[in-house]
Amino acid sequence: MTDNFENLLERRHENANRWKGEGKKIIGYICSYGLEEIVYAAGLQPVRVFGPGGPYKLSKEHIQPYYCQHCHGVVDEALKGSYDYLEGLIFPYTCEHGRAIYDSWGANMEVGYTRFIDMPSQTDLPQAQEFFVEELKNFSGSLESAFDARITKENLMASIKLHNRNRALLKEIYGLQMAEEPLVSGAEVFAAVMSSTVAPKEEHNDLLAGFLRELGEREDPAGAGPRLMLLGTELHDPEVVKAIEEAGARVVVDELCTGTRLVWENVDENGDPLAAIARRYLTGVNCPIKRPAAGRMAHLGNMAEEFKVEGALVLHPRHCDPNEWDMPFILETLKQRDIPVVKVELDEVFSPDNIRNAVDELKSKL
Ligand code: SF4
Repeated sequence: MTDNFENLLERRHENANRWKGEGKKIIGYICSYGLEEIVYAAGLQPVRVFGPGGPYKLSKEHIQPYYCQHCHGVVDEALKGSYDYLEGLIFPYTCEHGRAIYDSWGANMEVGYTRFIDMPSQTDLPQAQEFFVEELKNFSGSLESAFDARITKENLMASIKLHNRNRALLKEIYGLQMAEEPLVSGAEVFAAVMSSTVAPKEEHNDLLAGFLRELGEREDPAGAGPRLMLLGTELHDPEVVKAIEEAGARVVVDELCTGTRLVWENVDENGDPLAAIARRYLTGVNCPIKRPAAGRMAHLGNMAEEFKVEGALVLHPRHCDPNEWDMPFILETLKQRDIPVVKVELDEVFSPDNIRNAVDELKSKL
């Protein structure tokens, strides 16, 4: 069953080209604020954009070398033509590196529809909510005119329910890792979450329900070793999580842009749908570029306790400033709980040796 999730990741371009052939219009989004509910309600298929591992050559002719390896991966992949099936690209604002992806794409590649969606960085102010609701109204209107679509309250609510179901199923799978001896591995959970960003949600919900049934029949623990939490920002490659578990640790939970941050908070199914979407994306579990960090740190601390975390591994994408800014908060939160931390840098070429050494270092601190 996990093969299904990994296949979705490996064949994402092939699948998207097939959908395009069937008449679907596909919209790419950058980072974890994909606003998938709105894109889907317009009759479009949202997909998260990310690149494979490096080395990256093409991207270095277009964006600065000191932008994060995630940005280089996306731009490199787009310049190769792998994303030519996209009818549009949206960027709800996160960080300046992400903006480089958006700007470079618009300047160097043909993509019909592009939209920069401004998103406040200080998220707890009443003005932030008001501003963002207006921005979402404008975004919905622009999708309607660009794609001759009609986003009604009814189809927006249906989309919210579909996406909430996806998050609820993923959260249920995460919950199984709270057990003393989890029957599901961290790599399996990671592939399940990450594949949700490149698959139609109806199909993905069916796969998740099947996976949960299969897990109910398992008897043997998925691994052994200390219980780890993964921290950081963007991670796309299930091989990284596999390497951590092969080094003798169990990944029981994460606080990543491609992990729990995506699935932990649902959209309120009562009231005005656009206002509910704005609230969820602004005040749910934020990415490290948004402030204040207190809510996220409380979430991190709660998860560390619920999942009985023994050690934390920070997977730092090279040059990711938001992750650097987050480090003092992370260290303080974990120090209060006596949880040791090791930071390992993820460069454009993945090194299993670096991961093994980091896991060994962490084990020596337990
Ligand atoms: S948050 Fe970090 S990994 Fe994500 S785009 Fe910004 S710099 Fe890159």
